[in-house]
Amino acid sequence: MDDFKRVNPKSFKEMIESLPAGEIDRIHQLQHEQALDEHRRFKEHYEREECYLCGKPFKTLSKSAPCIHWLLRRCKFKAKDFSKVYQAFDYHQISSYLRWVANQERFQGNINDLVDEKGERKVIQTTIKWKNIEWTFDCSKTDYEGHGGSNSSFPHYHFQMRIDGKQFINFNSHHIRFSEKDLFNLDLVHQSPDLVKHSFGPGGSGMQDAVEVDPEFILQHTVATENEDEATYHMQTMVMAEDEPIKGEYLQALIEESRATGKPMASLLSERLGDGAKVNTIIFPVDRIPDIAKRTERKRR
Ligand SMILES: [Zn+2]
Ligand SMILES: [Zn+2]
Repeated sequence: MDDFKRVNPKSFKEMIESLPAGEIDRIHQLQHEQALDEHRRFKEHYEREECYLCGKPFKTLSKSAPCIHWLLRRCKFKAKDFSKVYQAFDYHQISSYLRWVANQERFQGNINDLVDEKGERKVIQTTIKWKNIEWTFDCSKTDYEGHGGSNSSFPHYHFQMRIDGKQFINFNSHHIRFSEKDLFNLDLVHQSPDLVKHSFGPGGSGMQDAVEVDPEFILQHTVATENEDEATYHMQTMVMAEDEPIKGEYLQALIEESRATGKPMASLLSERLGDGAKVNTIIFPVDRIPDIAKRTERKRR
């Protein structure tokens, strides 16, 4: 039987609330600095095609030291060795790592964790794309509760990996146990979804974060890209002149300025035209985000 001890998120919340306000800020600040530092180390290694966890090149595989970088498949990793990876690293560690990797290629747009696209019965359903590889994490409410046969009677998730669109690791081959820390995080998010969000660190955000950002912030901080493959958002701007019609040359000049400076048209327009025109901008996520790979669940007995 499972002798797993669940941490009680409720008493944790009470504990947090009993702390003096300054103390929570101090802990947050410290955690934030540690997270930034870890991500900086990750990035430095990534740029040299090395793994910051084990310090070895991505193309190295040492059987004695299983590592998450095996999943990038730059080494001779075989699907049958996958269990070694998840026995050494938990859900949070594996998913953060893969998110960080995907974000190096394209920020947020490679990670489909959109709540709107998640199945109703799912606790987790996220697809992450990087180069020719696609990873999917899938956990239904039943998996989370740990109902099932003897090999799945504990809280677990499922994982799929495709290479060049072909199956490499199948969803149903593994029931991957959540760690105590994973469950603690998931329970907290589950209990107070408005207060707590599962954070994958400064380099780990996906499309859900992208769509939750305040539109004003997007307008002010977004840089226009030449290439759609690198983009996170699409913007469509409609301009309606209030008094005088806006001259074509004027718009042309703004378009050129947008190209030269990387400032989105939408923010240039609302800045320059001010009260003279109504500027409406619709911001939506790029079309080319990965589809969430669907798992067909076996019939429960
Ligand atoms: Zn490694
Ligand atoms: Zn399952």
